[in-house]
Amino acid sequence: MPIRVLSDVVAAQIAAGEVVERPASVVKELVENALDAGATSISIEIEEGGTRLIRISDDGTGIPSGEVSLAFHRHATSKLETVADLDHIATLGFRGEALASIAAVSRTTLVSRHREESSGITVQVDGGEERFARPTGAPAGTVVTVENLFFNTPARLKFLKSDSTERRHINQLVTRYAMAYPEVRFRLMQEGREQFHSTGSGDLADVLVEVFGLDTFKDMLEVSPQPAPRRDVPAIDVYGYASAPSLYRANRGHIVLFVNGRAIVDQSLTYAVVQAYHALLPDGRYPLAVLMITLAPEEVDVNVHPTKAEVRFRAPDAVFAAVQRAVRAVLVDMPSAREYGGRADQGHGTWDEAGYDAPVYPARPRVPGEEQLRMALPTDDPGRFTRAAAPGEDTAIPSGPGQPLRPRTLPIMRVIGQVGAMYIVAEGPAGLYLIDQHAAHARVLYEQFRFSLAQGDSLPTVALSSAATELPPRQSRLLETESALLASVGIDVELFGPNTFRLRAVPDSLAEEDPARILSNVAETLEMGGEDALDNLLQTISYLGAYKAGQTLDFDAMASLVQRLERCETPRTDPDNQPTLIHISGEELARQFKRA
Ligand code: ADP
Ligand code: MG
Repeated sequence: MPIRVLSDVVAAQIAAGEVVERPASVVKELVENALDAGATSISIEIEEGGTRLIRISDDGTGIPSGEVSLAFHRHATSKLETVADLDHIATLGFRGEALASIAAVSRTTLVSRHREESSGITVQVDGGEERFARPTGAPAGTVVTVENLFFNTPARLKFLKSDSTERRHINQLVTRYAMAYPEVRFRLMQEGREQFHSTGSGDLADVLVEVFGLDTFKDMLEVSPQPAPRRDVPAIDVYGYASAPSLYRANRGHIVLFVNGRAIVDQSLTYAVVQAYHALLPDGRYPLAVLMITLAPEEVDVNVHPTKAEVRFRAPDAVFAAVQRAVRAVLVDMPSAREYGGRADQGHGTWDEAGYDAPVYPARPRVPGEEQLRMALPTDDPGRFTRAAAPGEDTAIPSGPGQPLRPRTLPIMRVIGQVGAMYIVAEGPAGLYLIDQHAAHARVLYEQFRFSLAQGDSLPTVALSSAATELPPRQSRLLETESALLASVGIDVELFGPNTFRLRAVPDSLAEEDPARILSNVAETLEMGGEDALDNLLQTISYLGAYKAGQTLDFDAMASLVQRLERCETPRTDPDNQPTLIHISGEELARQFKRA
């Protein structure tokens, strides 16, 4: 082919790919335009995960009728004039690419009336070509309707994930903007149902209650700006909420960061938050946090990436330190964890009652020597630390009812006692074992559940008459649509009112657990999605039903747990791959005591 210059339409389609990757990117750009236009109320409607229709309505300034067609031109923007302006951008948009890109790969209809004009205008652009522009009556503000997204770029369409994945992305995006702009009223409708709304009260706490649900939000602590350590570092404000150590998640996905009102992705700052919890959370567990970082516009470059999700700081270390300091300050200030934890506050024999000064959290602190787990435990060598079995004595442990009959995978252990209401101390053939009661019990329950389901048995359940619990709308929706899945693990949920549920039955290991906590944990698990929803649920109910750190166990309970652990398929790790036990060999003890 000879070299030639691409037509405007083709060039626009290629460039569109950079800005418009998926339906959520359209929502992002249009919501940003509405925010830049000073809207106080933004409503978002989605059909078929955004591929059929995306409609964003705002009550912002509107576009002057003479400029409406121009708004669809590439590099047409009202927000930037000179390159120098790039250094202090105060608006979300500035590249003048969004409308042109979106209109290149869809049929886009824009209706807008400027505040100071008496009538509005409607413009339709289809696959990058303007179809019509005509005057219309309209309320002040702008409505952009995007239909048949990617109709002319089939390759892009093919790479989209399922509607439900796209819906999840859109949901996440809208809730993030609602957090960043608590003074703006957001409403998200997906497939004709309201998924989320915020009140526009101006209070971040109100938005977080809508996003996380009241039960979860109650365990979040307010983070407030901390004075900078020195005068020569730039002023960096960090404001928001971070979870108390009793509240955590299995991934970093619940750490949400904003810089000057823009949600950003930043590994290093996420790590700053995680670091602030150092030693307060169990391994592999992460806090929830919503943090608004504010600094002078010239301290941050947002023009790094077309989707503007990454930013570059002029003084990254100062930002890191400010985030860490702010989060750390609230954790240190926190009243004793007793006021937060569930069972931990029954508090028999917790560390600090025993005279240790470390605060007690219903979480598993790191234990030195965890790496010894990788050592192989001999399962047949009786070892020199055990009592030899009397001749004829049956050392096999009878399996309890419903207990899978499996070969022993750990040596027989003899329970000695409990430490810190968290760990079981046991003696075995090759030395000493410290067993994390929560992790070990979760492992046992998890294998038991899987075993029963594999046998085609239903899990034994208990009936409940629990109080009603209200959940955020999108979680409610999942609870309704996934009720069959829930039933398969023994959870019977009753819709009790709008977004309000009651538990009618739960697996019997959850009989003692707070129903509100069960509901919110289960709903969050469904929301997390992921490959294997059933397995995720089994893990969640295993952890919920497991003995808690801080729970005093009697000798029989400990012995029975240890016996069941000995016959687990994978006894040394919990369902989330964290260690269940630490082995300190006889040799190691001798070495420590210098008994060589
Ligand atoms: P950018 O936001 O980067 O300037 P866009 O292509 O998103 O580029 O929008 C082009 C221009 O159209 C904006 O600069 C703005 O003047 C106008 N515009 C777009 N959406 C709206 C809206 N919802 N309300 C008012 N003006 C808008
Ligand atoms: Mg824009």
